[in-house]
Amino acid sequence: MRELIFIEPVFKETIWGGKRLHDDYGYDIPSDHTGECWAISAHPNGDCRIASGEYKGMTLSELYKEHGELFGKKGAGEFPLLVKIIDAKADLSIQVHPDDVYAAKHENGSLGKTECWYILDCDEDAQIVIGHNAKDHEEVKEMIENKRWDEFIRVVPVHKGDFFQIVPGTVHAIKTGTVILETQQSSDVTYRVYDYDRLQNGKPRDLHIKQSIDVIRAPFVPDTALKKTEKILDANVTTLVECEYYRVKKIDLEGETVIDENASFVNVSVLEGEGKAGDVRIKKGMHFIVPCGYGPLKLSGNMMLIISAVPQRK
Ligand code: ZN
Repeated sequence: MRELIFIEPVFKETIWGGKRLHDDYGYDIPSDHTGECWAISAHPNGDCRIASGEYKGMTLSELYKEHGELFGKKGAGEFPLLVKIIDAKADLSIQVHPDDVYAAKHENGSLGKTECWYILDCDEDAQIVIGHNAKDHEEVKEMIENKRWDEFIRVVPVHKGDFFQIVPGTVHAIKTGTVILETQQSSDVTYRVYDYDRLQNGKPRDLHIKQSIDVIRAPFVPDTALKKTEKILDANVTTLVECEYYRVKKIDLEGETVIDENASFVNVSVLEGEGKAGDVRIKKGMHFIVPCGYGPLKLSGNMMLIISAVPQRK
């Protein structure tokens, strides 16, 4: 039988990061400005290593390339998803991502980026930016060119447990005091619209005004999709989103359950508590992949987990 594939995260220092990845998740972080834990990633900008077992020490991209059978891989292509935990001690820049078509054309054949956020924790008065208030594309351009940021940017309050799907062309930013679990396409193409006029090493970070205006969709339409929760043995399993790139579920477990996704492999992040996956002890802060052919995964313990899989093409 195949083993679970445990992953060693890669950490990213950022001007807006903090130290909650250490304080809350126990990670050995490089500094008090650590913004991102790339928990399951085969992206060249942060390629995780396998933490244990037969493939220990290989990068996830190597494993995906050399042992495609573990992922039910058909044909060429890169590992499709990227899972991160983000600690925003300060505001992130206001940004937007292109879709696959724009990225392929303008970013050397890269994938576009659809992403989603589960709010793991946040300050009582925390907010995020999602969407804008321009009525059409003409007004998007006008508001950006004239730096009418307060009118342009749509800011909403957030609470622990909220979830947001962010499709390409959506203006967005995580704001201060928020920790999120992000599941996204494996892409690192970000267009920065506005950075609060901050300086990094004495200089403002690059903005990408032309590309942003090209890709921002207008008007903004909030996602109001209902989440569905089902009881599977002792777990409440909530489908947070299902789109063409990923299906993301939250599992609240007190006791035992079985996870049997109709997918070639499943990414699993343990975000609260501890227990067992099969016979292996797992706890908060661990991330692993259930490989193709593993079969149903038995989980036991008191835990909150988020899992993601690539939906099977019809
Ligand atoms: Zn983003």
